[in-house]
Amino acid sequence: MKRLAVLGHPVSHSRSPAMQNAALAELGLDDWSYEAIDVAPDEFEVKVREMAAGDWVGANVTVPHKGAALAVADELSEVAREIGAANTLHFEEGRIHAYNTDAKGLLTLLPESVEGSRALVLGAGGAARAVVWTLVRNGAAVDVWNRTELRSRNLCEDLGGTPVSEPEQAGYDLIANTTAVGLRGEDPFSELPLSAEGFRPEQLVVDLVYSDRPTALLSAAKERRSETIDGLAVLVAQGAVSLKIWTGQEPPLEAMRKAARSN
Ligand code: NAP
Repeated sequence: MKRLAVLGHPVSHSRSPAMQNAALAELGLDDWSYEAIDVAPDEFEVKVREMAAGDWVGANVTVPHKGAALAVADELSEVAREIGAANTLHFEEGRIHAYNTDAKGLLTLLPESVEGSRALVLGAGGAARAVVWTLVRNGAAVDVWNRTELRSRNLCEDLGGTPVSEPEQAGYDLIANTTAVGLRGEDPFSELPLSAEGFRPEQLVVDLVYSDRPTALLSAAKERRSETIDGLAVLVAQGAVSLKIWTGQEPPLEAMRKAARSN
C-alpha cells in the first residue's frame, strides 16, 4: 500500500481525504490511500520521521504544523523556504522533502498576469504568507492589512508588500481574505476593513475560507458583480499540485472538485 495523509490538529474537518481519495480512484491508483491523522504539536517530528522510514509516500500538513514541517525537512523547495511554511511533504528513500503548494495552486487560479495590478491581502498568518509571496513574485503591488499590525509589518519585511491600516477598498484590482473571518460565521464587514457595498465589477475577490455556501464576503462581492474565487477552489488547486508531486500524474481536477464540494 502507498499511503498518504493530512497531518493537523485538529484535522477531522479536513476535506482533503475525500478529495484526494477521489483523485486516486479516478487515476486507477488502487494501491494508494489517503487519510487524516490528528497529531499534537509535540508529536509531529517523531510522527513524520516514522512515516518517512515506513511505507508512506507523503503528507499534506495543515494548521498548526506548517512551520514545523519546514524544520523537519531534509530538503526544502525554494518556495517553501521563502514563504517560511510547508504544506506538502514527500518521502523518498527515507529523506523528507518539503514544498509549499498553496502558492503554486493559487497561481493556477489567478488571471494570466497580475503584473502591475494592485492587491490587498487581509491577514498575516500562514495562508497570507503564501498569497503575498505569490502576488509579489508575480509583479503585483501588494498592501497587507492585519488585525494585529505587528504581524503584517513583519510579513512585509520578510516577503515584500506594504503594511496598511486603512485600505481603500475601491482602489484594488484584487482583494484576498486570508484571515479566518467567516469560518465560524463571523461578519466580515465588522471584522475586516471592507464594506459590502464597496466592491466593484472590475475587482477579483478571493476568500480562502471554505464552506459549502458562498461566504458572506463572496456573496456581497458577487452582488456587486466582482469576479470571485472561493476557498474550495483554492483547496482543490493546492491539492492538485501536491498530488502531482506524489504520483507524477496529471490531477483529475473535476473529480477533485466534485468530492471537495460534496463532502
Ligand atoms: P493563521 O496562521 O492562524 O492566521 C489567522 C489569521 O486570521 C491572522 O491573520 C489573524 O489575525 C486573522 N484573524 C483571525 N480571527 C480574526 C478576526 N476575528 N478578525 C480579524 N482577523 C482575524 O491561519 P492560516 O493558516 O493563515 O489560515 C487562515 C484561513 O485560511 C483559515 O480560515 C484557513 O482555513 C484558510 N485556509 C484555506 C486554504 C484553502 O486551501 N482554501 C488554505 C490555507 C488556509 P491576527 O494576526 O490578528 O490574529
